[in-house]
Order: sequence, then C-alpha cells, then structure tokens
Amino acid sequence: MELAEGKPCPLCESPLASRTLPDTTGDESPMRVTLRGFPVFSCAAPHRYFLGQQVPIWLLDAMVDGELGKIPAGVEKGLLFRKYACGGCGAVLPAAAAETLTYSSALAWKETPGFAVDVTIPVYRCGGCGREQARSGPELAKLLPAALVHAFKAAGLKAPG
Ligand SMILES: [Zn+2]
Ligand SMILES: [Zn+2]
Repeated sequence: MELAEGKPCPLCESPLASRTLPDTTGDESPMRVTLRGFPVFSCAAPHRYFLGQQVPIWLLDAMVDGELGKIPAGVEKGLLFRKYACGGCGAVLPAAAAETLTYSSALAWKETPGFAVDVTIPVYRCGGCGREQARSGPELAKLLPAALVHAFKAAGLKAPG
C-alpha cells in the first residue's frame, strides 16, 4: 500500500501526517552523516516512514553520483602499503588529519520539502600546495551507505515496502 498524508499507519492505524525529522546522525567511522529537515510521514506514536519507497536509493545515488564528488579528495596509491596523494598536486598527504570539516548538500525528492545532508569527515592538508581534502573519494562512497542506514535507523525509519 502506498503511504500518504491521512492514510492509516500500517502499525497502529492512526492517521499519517507529513512531518520533519529532528536532526538525525549516523556514524560510520570516520564519517558522520547528519540529516537536517528530512521529510517523512509519521503517526502520533511516532512510527515514521519514507515519503516513497524509492527515497533511500534515490538519496544514496544523489549523494554518491553528485554531492560526494564536490568534496575535494586525494588519490589512494599502493597495493600493499597504502598511501594517499594530493588530488591537486600529487604530493603524498600527511598520515594525520588536520581537522574535521562538514560539507553540506541541499536536496529535495520530487516536489517534497527540501532538506540538507551534512557529511563530516577528517580532512588532510597537503604539505605541497596547502589543499585540504578527504584522503580518498572512493573511500567516502564506501562509508556513506552504512552511515545513512545508521541515521535512518536512529530515526526509527523502516526499510520501505
Ligand atoms: Zn503508528
Ligand atoms: Zn597538493
């Protein structure tokens, strides 16, 4: 059954309303994801639901295919002994992160209210050119799905369907 405003909650039958989640975080070390203003359907309990079955996959794709690519990142090198090179000048990045930074993306699913996804990660400052960056783009893409699932679970959002 397709969920909608005013329809009965599948768990308790009380009517669903459009709501905004309180800020919700998910940690997949060393990444933290924060959903801000994420729209859901909720009953009074509250039992919470995605606005559509496709929302979680859409969100993951939007982040991995678009938003994560905007975060400056280094390049992983070496098969056995891994090191990371600056994505700008190619110098080897320091082993320790300089600080933790948050990159914010504004998204909206179809005509529903917009929300923000904050991705907080350690950044490494290149000794050669000073560029601050995540150490690896593919590493971000690998951490994100689990971080998102942790955030959904923290909010009591169930898998759709
Ligand atoms: Zn309910
Ligand atoms: Zn550099």
